[in-house]
Amino acid sequence: MNKKVLIVGTGLAGLTTALRLSSLGYKVEMVEKHHQAGGRLNQLKKDGFTWDIGPSFFSMSYEFDEFFKFCGIDPPFEFVELDPLYTVRFRNKNNKYTIYKDLDKLAEQFKDIEPDFKSNMEKLLKSSGSFFHDTENRVIKKNYNSVIHWLATLTTVPMVHFPKLTRTVWQELDRYFESKEVKQIFSLVAFFLGATPFDTPGVYTLLTYTELVHDGYYNVKGGMYRIVEGLLGEIDKAGIKIHYNTEIVGFKGDKKNLKQLTDRDGKVWDADIFVINSDAAGFRHSVFRRENFSEEKLDKMKWTLAPFTMYLGVKGKIEGLEHHNYFLGDNFEEYASKIFKNSITLDKPYYYVNVNSKFNEEMAPAGHENIFILCPVPDLRYKPDWSDREVLANN
Ligand SMILES: Cc1cc2nc3c(=O)[nH]c(=O)nc-3n(C[C@H](O)[C@H](O)[C@H](O)COP(=O)(O)OP(=O)(O)OC[C@H]3O[C@@H](n4cnc5c(N)ncnc54)[C@H](O)[C@@H]3O)c2cc1C
Repeated sequence: MNKKVLIVGTGLAGLTTALRLSSLGYKVEMVEKHHQAGGRLNQLKKDGFTWDIGPSFFSMSYEFDEFFKFCGIDPPFEFVELDPLYTVRFRNKNNKYTIYKDLDKLAEQFKDIEPDFKSNMEKLLKSSGSFFHDTENRVIKKNYNSVIHWLATLTTVPMVHFPKLTRTVWQELDRYFESKEVKQIFSLVAFFLGATPFDTPGVYTLLTYTELVHDGYYNVKGGMYRIVEGLLGEIDKAGIKIHYNTEIVGFKGDKKNLKQLTDRDGKVWDADIFVINSDAAGFRHSVFRRENFSEEKLDKMKWTLAPFTMYLGVKGKIEGLEHHNYFLGDNFEEYASKIFKNSITLDKPYYYVNVNSKFNEEMAPAGHENIFILCPVPDLRYKPDWSDREVLANN
């Protein structure tokens, strides 16, 4: 008899797990608390505009290729590599830096502020590239069942990489570059992923290798939500049923043996195997009610940034903006180290602007642009009151 699997959540991980398990012969069913699938990879539509409301580009496209092959399906959406990757502007400076994958073109951008950019970047890429390839299959793609298992796996990493664990991203970049602007630009990935380069381990400079050399960044034709729509088409073909507006709030069983889940309306969900796509810590707190994930303990954990996002439909075409743009200030060290704890004002925010209609015209009415702005801000522990959000939006 085919085993029955219940997947809680229709985020990207839930949808792809459903298709993988279904292709292996499991009988899969899904529940989702919202009215539509996608989780954080989602979409907003209004007045002829369409916005991707979460991710705007992705890397490691070969993971999708492996997934399609595993499930035996044709790619249900099309992705296109980005080049240039993005642009960066600094407050009170007129120029913009365009980040190309080609190192000669990239070095040209920095010739006035980092004359040896190309050779320095080559050294950084050599080091971060060898770290990436020495850890991708050994460490990054492994599943860990305990801290001891994780530590034991770390011992298989060549010793030459260990100094990276003791340095921060900023210290690592400082070994290669003089210019503050250059260091700031290549630590943006850490900053916009929700941490400061001043306390993020230097190993994260491997992201510079993944963006410039390894596989780059990709956009999806028609917008990122096409990924979800494409996967939903395959889910439908596989006969997997999704129950929307169904939030799991409780369980039956004990710590070692989960027997059933219950939803907000009291309905009981049975399965042989349960897969939880929800945030692990939040689910352990609110559904499994584990002591180690009490409100108090969750508050003490180190969390990544809270993104403040805005979705604008704009009349007219905006010249000078590319598809992906970063706008930064001139006080990065102070700003990055204080912003997450709400100890600096949001008068002059750092932010990311995505103009998706530059790449997908159909996402805005003719002669208009759809704009998505993301600004790293303190989370609700540090800034519980957002009644001043209009002020931040205006800034
Ligand atoms: C603003 C923003 C920008 C981002 N930009 C990028 C980017 O440019 N590139 C990139 O690669 N990544 C980006 N990310 C990260 C990316 O969106 C996530 O890593 C990814 O979408 C997570 O997918 P997931 O399936 O793991 O989880 P989720 O998308 O969080 O899915 C979890 C699902 O479970 C459901 N769920 C939770 N609890 C329950 C419950 N109790 N009962 C029923 N259903 C439940 C949720 O509703 C949700 O649908 C961004 C994220 C945000 C928020």
